[in-house]
Amino acid sequence: MKTELLDSSPHSIGRACAILESQKIVALPTETVYGLAGNAFDEASVRKIFSAKSRPYFDPLIVHISLKVLSDPAGVLHALIRDGILAPSLAASSDRSNFEALVKAFWPGPLTLVVPRGPLIPDVVTGGHPTVAIRMPSHEVFQSVLGLLSFPLAAPSANRFGRISPTTAEHVRAELDGRIAAIVDGGPCGIGVESTIIRLEEGGIRLLRPGGVSSAEIASITGSVPRTQQRLHSSAPEAPGMLDEHYAPRKPLFLIPEPIDSHPDLRELLRELGDSSRLGLLLHAPVRSSFDVSSFKSHRILSGSGDGAEAARNLFSFMRELDEDPFVDVILADLPENHFEGMFAAIADRLQRASRNKPLGQSVKKL
Ligand code: AMP
Ligand code: MG
Repeated sequence: MKTELLDSSPHSIGRACAILESQKIVALPTETVYGLAGNAFDEASVRKIFSAKSRPYFDPLIVHISLKVLSDPAGVLHALIRDGILAPSLAASSDRSNFEALVKAFWPGPLTLVVPRGPLIPDVVTGGHPTVAIRMPSHEVFQSVLGLLSFPLAAPSANRFGRISPTTAEHVRAELDGRIAAIVDGGPCGIGVESTIIRLEEGGIRLLRPGGVSSAEIASITGSVPRTQQRLHSSAPEAPGMLDEHYAPRKPLFLIPEPIDSHPDLRELLRELGDSSRLGLLLHAPVRSSFDVSSFKSHRILSGSGDGAEAARNLFSFMRELDEDPFVDVILADLPENHFEGMFAAIADRLQRASRNKPLGQSVKKL
């Protein structure tokens, strides 16, 4: 199949909609990463997403909602129930007030809510689960497309399964050229890591994936910090949203969960990793000590000032650059001391999965 490359002009948006209406799939920019979109109400369209990505059917997709529901006279909750996306049971449940408060605070934006699904969402979208993951993206291009359609869009990230998520149209082309009908180029993504996913359950909240909205921000709205979920291994097929091996470069990536220059046995560590001239460094911030990064063939610094938002924006594209660098065999990444909050929680999660939890001798502490 020839993949059409579209810009974000009104004419191209119209073309993307026509393709989606004919049950084909299109990569679209969102504020988090590029998504691979298809009609969420239509099983045939959704199957094409799984097959283009080689994604296993047990890993469910996020359904993207139009901004239009924010101004629906019925209110967001009732509009989504009426449209067959949410189960009517949510209206009478103890999760209703959290749902409404979180929507008001964070939509449109990078927060995905896992809630009981409505009758128009097919099994193929949810991996057979009784819940559906929904989000309202803020990206203008994605919303222009949704605004012209009569159905929501199921969209996982537009990469081959398990690989690094794309933050530019060129990344999408490198992953999926010839496998999808079109790519809409909306420039680089502003946030750079995927949405935060939370499940509403019995009046409480469980964090399934850290992302663009922090746990502290969620707690400021709901009054309590989300519970965290023990991450399960990828061999456990019932574990949506929590696959261990994900966001991975082709080359081995090792992660030190602290700044590289405060690692106690750095010399030993570098020896363990082999020829350091073939090592690519992915550092969260500039090094402070006398540690000399210029002796490494390639290094990337996620943020010159250690800023989490800037680091997140650069994470996947820098990881991809090191993966493609012919002089690099192994990637070594580091993290700030305090990587449990804000955007660094999401960055730490992605790097940990990219490292496939590879143990690094005795020297690496568990995250
Ligand atoms: P991606 O957009 O590629 O990052 O994938 C969407 C993520 O949302 C996946 O990790 C899914 O497993 C997760 N997800 C989607 N639906 C559900 C659900 N019903 N319950 C839990 N996680 C979900
Ligand atoms: Mg993904």
